[in-house]
Amino acid sequence: MRIVLLGPPGAGKGTQAKTISETLAVIHVASGDLLRENQNKGTELGEMARGYMQKGLLVPDDVIIGMIQDRISNPDATNGYVLDGFPRTLEQASSLDAALSSQNQHIDKVLNIKVSDSELIVRLSGRWICRDCQRPYHETNSKPKKQGMCDECNGELYQREDDTSDAVSKRIQVYSNQTAPLIEYYKERGNLVEINGEQSIEDVRKDLLETIS
Ligand SMILES: [Zn+2]
Repeated sequence: MRIVLLGPPGAGKGTQAKTISETLAVIHVASGDLLRENQNKGTELGEMARGYMQKGLLVPDDVIIGMIQDRISNPDATNGYVLDGFPRTLEQASSLDAALSSQNQHIDKVLNIKVSDSELIVRLSGRWICRDCQRPYHETNSKPKKQGMCDECNGELYQREDDTSDAVSKRIQVYSNQTAPLIEYYKERGNLVEINGEQSIEDVRKDLLETIS
C-alpha cells in the first residue's frame, strides 16, 4: 500500500501518518525527517540539500525525490509507505509519478484531510507560549488557569509572530494556492479520497483506516 497524505498545517497530518504507518506496518516517510537524516549521515543528496539551504534557497524537487527514492527502495519499504509533507505542488506530484513509474510503482491512495480555513485559524492562531519556560497553551484547547500567566512558573504568555491570525491566514492561503492544482491532479487520476478533518483525532483515524482497508 502506497499512500500520500495531504492536509493543511494544523490538520494533524503527522499524527495520522504515524498511526497509519503503525497500523498497516508500512514506513512513514516525512520529508522534513528525510532531509535531516540525509544531512546527519552526510549523504551526497544531504550535502547538496545543505548547500542550497545555506544559501537560503529552496531544496530543488529532484534532490528531495532522490531522497524519497532512496528511502522507498530500502527492504523495509516493501510493504509500502505513507508520504507525509511531499508532494506539495503539482510539479512535485508529476515528478514523483515519473520517478515511481520508472521503478514500476505508483501511488495507490491519496488521502486529503480537509479542514475549513476558519477552523484552521482557530487551531493555529490560538497558541500562546510562556516567555520563561516555553510551555505552550491554547486559547480554546488548553487554557492557562489565569489569563496571560503560565501555570508552571507564573511567567508571562506571549504570541509568536507566526501564530497571529494574520500570519496564520497567510500561511493557509499559500497552502491552498499551492495544493489546489495538486488535489485536482489526483482527483483526475481517480485515487483521491477526502477525509473530514473537523472531527476528533480518533474519528479522523477511523475514517482514514476504513478508506485504506
Ligand atoms: Zn512558564
